Amino acid sequence: MSCIFCKIVSGEIPTVKVFEDDDTLAFLDVNPDTEGHCLVIPKKHFETIFDIDGEILKKVMATLKTVALKIKDSLGAEGMHIANNNGILGGQIVSHFHMHIIPRYENDGLIMYGPRPKKDEKISLEELQKIAEKIVKNT
Ligand code: ZN
Repeated sequence: MSCIFCKIVSGEIPTVKVFEDDDTLAFLDVNPDTEGHCLVIPKKHFETIFDIDGEILKKVMATLKTVALKIKDSLGAEGMHIANNNGILGGQIVSHFHMHIIPRYENDGLIMYGPRPKKDEKISLEELQKIAEKIVKNT
């Protein structure tokens, strides 16, 4: 398998781990947005939120919280950005499900989102209802 995160799990590619259990791994991002930028992954390969096993996802989230608290307490992060990208249009670069923990510090200069066009009108409740009906019909 050519997946870089699977190679990190197997030890083929070295990494700096901050937490590990039977199903999950947390390691520091080699190209960090801020100090302590960390990735939390399932050890088993899943590509996106759409195919990850639900029980494994719960374990990933439990690890995420454990590591987020450790980073907050140890590095003094005053805030934290938790992110997950899915698919190319969703900004996913490595096709192995992963959660980003990006600690935020006063004046760290990180801009997470660019400016978005300001809409003058809010969408109506009727339009929202039509969207919700499509979603609910499919669940
Ligand atoms: Zn993988």
